[in-house]
Amino acid sequence: LGTFDHPVCVGLEVSGAGPALSKASGKPDHIFETDGQITKRPIRALTLSALAPQRGEHLWDIGGGTGSISIEWLMCDLTLTATSIEPRADRAERIRRNADALGQDRLNVIHGTAPAALDGLELPDVVFIGGGLDPDLLHWLHQNLPSGTRLVANAVTLESEATLAQWHEKLGGELLRIELAQSAPLGPRRGWKSAYPVVQWSVTL
Ligand code: SAH
Repeated sequence: LGTFDHPVCVGLEVSGAGPALSKASGKPDHIFETDGQITKRPIRALTLSALAPQRGEHLWDIGGGTGSISIEWLMCDLTLTATSIEPRADRAERIRRNADALGQDRLNVIHGTAPAALDGLELPDVVFIGGGLDPDLLHWLHQNLPSGTRLVANAVTLESEATLAQWHEKLGGELLRIELAQSAPLGPRRGWKSAYPVVQWSVTL
């Protein structure tokens, strides 16, 4: 029995509300209730690929936002678990709602700020940083997580990108710059509307 047999997902198919939910990561943004703080579909697909979930692994999703990364992680396999850390109460509640609506009860939502809120949590196999990326957070993770823990961090601002460049020099790993553009109306015709570039660092601690 796969995750997609959950009544909610089946409901999406039989109600005629839309096409069946894909099994691939990078599901449509509209399946999530969001205030706009969401990793958009193409970047989310590349992020799940970099997180590379393996049977039984536990994820920390730091800067949960809408919860889309944790939820897609959990949808990859029924043996996976995740903890989402989000400082805004309204967003923490929204993450819980999204997880419940999409049938993902293996998500633990922590209302708190990293790194303080990380103390005492069950240790992860994999960490994703989608918010709160700064030198203090990386120092905390480097000091407190066992070697072998995988880390993926997405940076959008110049400041967080500079932090990643420094830590990449120090610890190695892979830096990927993702620049995407989507067609959009431009007057009577069409043009390319660029998204902010995302710099993604993947490393094994
Ligand atoms: N990846 C998410 C979107 C992340 S938006 C998704 O796809 O749904 C970034 C989030 O990081 C925001 O909700 C913000 O409140 C949160 N954040 C900012 N600083 C943080 C910190 N120090 N610890 C944890 N979360 C933080």
